[in-house]
Amino acid sequence: MKKAISRKNILQSAPAFLKQTVGRLLEPVPVQWLLGRTFREHRERLRSAQWWKAEEARKHQLAGLRAILALAYERTIFYRRQFDAVGFQPHGLQSPEQIRSLPTVDRNVITENLADMCTKSVSARDVDQISTGGTSGSPLYFYANASRSAVEYAYLTSSWARAGYKLGMPMAVLRGRVVRADRDGLYHEYDPLLRHHHYSSFHMSDENMGRYIEHIATIGPCYLHVYPSTVAALARFLRRTGRQAPANVRGIIAESEIVYPEQRQMVEEVFGCRYFSCYGHTEKIVLAAECEHATDYHVWPIYGYFELLDEDGQPVTTPGRRGEIVGTGFINTVMPFIRYRTGDWATYVADRCEACGREQPIIRDIRGHRTQEVLIAADGSEIPWTALNMHDDTFVRVRQFQFMQKMRGKAVLRVVPGKGFGEHDIDRIQRNLGRKLDSQLMLSVELIESIPLSTTGKVIYVDQRIPQGGSAAVPGRPV
Ligand SMILES: [Zn+2]
Repeated sequence: MKKAISRKNILQSAPAFLKQTVGRLLEPVPVQWLLGRTFREHRERLRSAQWWKAEEARKHQLAGLRAILALAYERTIFYRRQFDAVGFQPHGLQSPEQIRSLPTVDRNVITENLADMCTKSVSARDVDQISTGGTSGSPLYFYANASRSAVEYAYLTSSWARAGYKLGMPMAVLRGRVVRADRDGLYHEYDPLLRHHHYSSFHMSDENMGRYIEHIATIGPCYLHVYPSTVAALARFLRRTGRQAPANVRGIIAESEIVYPEQRQMVEEVFGCRYFSCYGHTEKIVLAAECEHATDYHVWPIYGYFELLDEDGQPVTTPGRRGEIVGTGFINTVMPFIRYRTGDWATYVADRCEACGREQPIIRDIRGHRTQEVLIAADGSEIPWTALNMHDDTFVRVRQFQFMQKMRGKAVLRVVPGKGFGEHDIDRIQRNLGRKLDSQLMLSVELIESIPLSTTGKVIYVDQRIPQGGSAAVPGRPV
């Protein structure tokens, strides 16, 4: 899979000895300088943007929409055809709401029209081909600007600042990265550029979790950057073993999975600090974060244009009613996502947060493809399904997939093959997943024609059949 070199990933691909040497040299340099100008400019803009009055935000949204819609119209076959069909003129856009005359798109539309949706040659140096491996069980491939990570990191760190995070503070990260054991057998790796301590979320046995906790206690005032399921596993472990949480953890930033209120409360009690959550997508459509005082999500005004639509496609404006999150992203100018249905649903709260005064759409209870399903390793530890969401070419030519597990340490990956799928695809899937799973779980691949939905019509990512009590917790349930 093609991936442009950026400041954020250049060190990740470097050999360990080089990382350490470069890391020592970089240690005194402030992180905002290491991350480059794009990052700094966005950070600076967001400092004031989050406090814009609604009218001010609308002006910027209108400008953002005009720019992305004009680009899509002028440079892509797909959107020109779509806009012409309804007589839509992007230059004549007078208010953000006028985009409602355009049809929405979903992941199927993207997959079918990929070649006609790009604004430039996808072989350009500054274009990445990326995927959201598993969301909704059907992999999605698309193209995006290589610079998107710096922009997104500016948004994320600006959001985390509301929980007290300061740039350059160490982070203890448990988010599905492949981390090999070091000489002492500790599954830990240090990224000196971002000052991130990565721990393996594929090796969450009691012994390893105990070592993670001991190590975290030595890295100074820090934040945990986690999936809700990985931090819940750590908190349960601490509670079960009667150990104290490290006192240097200043806050917990949990992303990429559904957040259960009971779980948040339990984790906050165990760690004795704030649990803070952000909502976003690999597709870079909408980004929302909690604030200093409240746990509802505040939608960033200029990351993209946000809509919340009911079953009939009408905007939800009544507090307490639910709608699907639909977004028009401003960051990806290689392949515009215009009125993209995310498949995530949320409850509308207000257009202003009473607690902090920010004039932004406020939503809560986001539900959709973000689950907390887990696979159970041979030693009984849990492996979060989210960690197996591959952002590379693992699931290319796969239409849909699902894990099925009947016993610890073993699982069947059911695959609905796409066009041209063959033996070499099975080899690649087993190789790539095997690299992450590191013998914790033996995986066999089974080809099937379709994957049934649950009785409530939801996609199930892990058809978990290990009897209750077979693991530390009931898979997929909050604790
Ligand atoms: Zn607020």
